[in-house]
Amino acid sequence: MNYVLHLECSKCKKEYSADKIQTVCHDCNAPLVAVYDIEKVKESLDKSALKHRRPDMWRYIELLPIEDERNIVSLGEGLTPIHKLDLGLGEIYIKDDGIIPTGTFKARGLSMAVSKAKEFGIQRLAMPSAGNAAGAMATYCAKAGTEAYVIMPVDAPIGCKIESYMTGAKVYLVKGLISDAGKIVAEGKERFGWFDVSTMKEPYRLEGKKTMGLEIAEQFNWELPDVILYPTGGGTGIIGMWKAFKELQEVGFIGEKLPRMISVQAEGCAPIVNAFKERKKESEFWENASTIAAGVRVPKAFADFMILDVVYESKGSAIAVSDKEMLESSKQLARAGVFVCPEGAATLAALKRLFESGEVGRDEKVLLYNTGSGIKYTDVYSENIKLELPIVNSVEDIRI
Ligand SMILES: *Cc1c(COP(=O)(O)O)cnc(C)c1O
Ligand SMILES: [Zn+2]
Repeated sequence: MNYVLHLECSKCKKEYSADKIQTVCHDCNAPLVAVYDIEKVKESLDKSALKHRRPDMWRYIELLPIEDERNIVSLGEGLTPIHKLDLGLGEIYIKDDGIIPTGTFKARGLSMAVSKAKEFGIQRLAMPSAGNAAGAMATYCAKAGTEAYVIMPVDAPIGCKIESYMTGAKVYLVKGLISDAGKIVAEGKERFGWFDVSTMKEPYRLEGKKTMGLEIAEQFNWELPDVILYPTGGGTGIIGMWKAFKELQEVGFIGEKLPRMISVQAEGCAPIVNAFKERKKESEFWENASTIAAGVRVPKAFADFMILDVVYESKGSAIAVSDKEMLESSKQLARAGVFVCPEGAATLAALKRLFESGEVGRDEKVLLYNTGSGIKYTDVYSENIKLELPIVNSVEDIRI
């Protein structure tokens, strides 16, 4: 079973066979996206059937690109909880991908990409990563028995380095950013026979990320929130969610109304925000990118024009917040029961600003997307939050 008709260039719309290994469009070097036979999907998928499906992202199999389910490389990723937050600010929910295998939503894309690689018989995957994608790829490759080569910045969070190393991947560090790692992967493709799994240069990670949108729709009983805030780096998440909503409309599971998509970035690396302010279609390379939120430290997204398309089409916006605001918001969220990564915290920081400016109304239903666990960022947090904890020898030393 596989309802993918073909892959399509996101720019020129040229069609590519989904039966062969594909990367990007040969003419425009732009991402390829999967197009489904929606009529066939409709015939086999109905809302009630979902009740009996596996409780992970693979429950939406008709809208996923796998040919043979035996190729699925899964650790039970997806169907993460959505919590209502009692912050006294409005009707705010948070979808928590902090509890997914490998601790970040990157698991979704890499479960899919590693599964597709298995289906195509690809044995050697390589990827530049800000950290979390490396950990996820390493983990899923370990499960699949596929070789993994990952290159990340020297200052990537230690959790990502250890995770990648422990799972047996070949790990390399570069004194630079994810963009520098990307150049090395591109150069090593021929030399080492690497298959490049870079964000949006491999067509199927996006299909894994799409499940975030499918889940949001199902979990909200097919009534989407008014606004979704998403911390944006390479953009697979925001592009994937939007693709999910469009497909669900075509299948007839949801109505006309779609959420406004807000792309959240860091003040120290905000190429999408700048492009949005100037109503541009593409972003400029961001020099000297710097933020504690490693996942959004992406100076120029390969699919920047697609991210901006989603923002414009959804009548959303793009906004940057400071590292300091992220730290404050992460504390606030931890106190509400969710220990998030700085990227996830950025969405709450952004929401507070949007409430103030009136861009988001207090009566609107808002969803924050937490992309990862705070536990993966203990080095980043401990460098930025003063931990002055009293040492006690006996109960006599404690005053409450
Ligand atoms: C990669 C990453 C992001 C950005 O994701 P995209 O969907 O590629 O924009 C956000 N948060 C975390 C924790 C990440 O690892
Ligand atoms: Zn093209």
